[in-house]
Amino acid sequence: PNSITAYDTIAAISTPPGEGGISIVRLSGDQALPVAQRVFKGRNLAKVASHTINYGHIIDPSDGSVVDEVMVSVMRAPKTYTREDVIEINCHGGIVDTNRILQLLLSHGARMAEPGEFTKRAFLNGRIDLTQAESVMDLIRAKTDKAMQVAVDQLDGNLSHLIKTMRQEIFSVLGQEEVNIDYPEYEMDEVTGQMMLEKATAVRDHVAQLLATANQGKILREGLATAIIGRPNVGKSSLLNYLLHEDKAIVTDVAGTTRDTLEEYVNVRGVPLKLVDTAGIHHTTDKVEKIGVARSQKALGQADLVLLVLDASAPLQSDDRELLKATQAKKRIILLNKTDLPAAITPENLAALVPDETLIIPVSVLQASGLDELEAAIAHLFFGEGIENSQSSVLVTNARQYGLLAQAKTALDDVVTALKNDVPLDLVQIDMTTAWEKLGEVIGQNAPDELITQLFSQFCLGK
Ligand code: GDP
Ligand code: ZN
Repeated sequence: PNSITAYDTIAAISTPPGEGGISIVRLSGDQALPVAQRVFKGRNLAKVASHTINYGHIIDPSDGSVVDEVMVSVMRAPKTYTREDVIEINCHGGIVDTNRILQLLLSHGARMAEPGEFTKRAFLNGRIDLTQAESVMDLIRAKTDKAMQVAVDQLDGNLSHLIKTMRQEIFSVLGQEEVNIDYPEYEMDEVTGQMMLEKATAVRDHVAQLLATANQGKILREGLATAIIGRPNVGKSSLLNYLLHEDKAIVTDVAGTTRDTLEEYVNVRGVPLKLVDTAGIHHTTDKVEKIGVARSQKALGQADLVLLVLDASAPLQSDDRELLKATQAKKRIILLNKTDLPAAITPENLAALVPDETLIIPVSVLQASGLDELEAAIAHLFFGEGIENSQSSVLVTNARQYGLLAQAKTALDDVVTALKNDVPLDLVQIDMTTAWEKLGEVIGQNAPDELITQLFSQFCLGK
């Protein structure tokens, strides 16, 4: 997809729906300028320099009435988002007004863009590869600064670059091997099994490292499903409120995403926690929660991380013991709350009851003490020492990338095994070629049409 094909001219509102200071209606395609000109009164857009903003009015050509006062950005191909001519009409932001401008463009030669179609064109026109296109979507949905940074780096091409380098490594031995076979008379450095083994091993290890980032990538992208559980009155709601306030709540109402329920997210040092079943712990009435433990059990099922809250000022009760047991197999942090009161349970008492490696953190949510330790523990649990300090944030962020990398790794594993068993090089080459192809698919080489369509359809309108 590196040659520019002419596609029809598309239009969409690119800013989120609702009232705003300004809205942007975007056009892309070889007719973008003439279409805009038909409804624009101001300078002749065909004559203005590229990458300029031009003042004027949108008018309805049927009766000459003025629809809005606008600024029109003219960006000519190829240095644009889509590599096509792009027009952006900055208008005054009311829904009616913005829609009317869009309608005018649609009745004067543009077609309504599908979700993600602008980005799809950037891909089809070879400006970005598939991992970069995916990062645009990640960027829109990023829940924390860290998630945003990973998406920006991916958009920059960090992951693509790494993949391309690995492909070159493979190709260097594949290519030579081909020459050796096809032109035996050609005096070329012969590819030995040893060389092939070294390359295959190096690339495989690199792929394995990438695969190992997938968990972090997924968490950054989707959030870490976290349940706050405990029997009634131990301080769950207080903890929830602490997490939700403190400027940590993440707004998730992203326009155009397909979420039907509003989930609650909090940002803990870059880790987006997706809080599970917060309805179960929000106090909507003054009634004592009677469903506490049963509901906790249910929330447990959906959680990747459990924050089990115990009341340190009261002896352990049977419900506490039940929950301690129920959470044993989970990634969990036990919060020994109410440490501001005289202790009935100490961390030492508790430690004797649970496996050695269990994290127990004494806190007082009321006095906001111990909560820094909690946050540090969460960040450490999921990102280790690495991510916060590391410069590189090349992460595998979705299942598609993961699946292909895993297949590439399997093929490379086979290469390594075969070479160690003295299988002839031309046979080994088949798996080596598979690895090369799978890596190519990660960046979108030979990506099937359905995949492309399906992928971009998850985007929001106007992107
Ligand atoms: P939940 O039923 O588990 O959600 O518990 P709540 O968050 O509603 O808290 C129950 C009671 O314990 C409330 O009166 C809180 O103010 C109080 N509480 C919560 N955390 C602490 C704490 O750290 N110390 C003390 N002394 N009281 C607390
Ligand atoms: Zn509660």
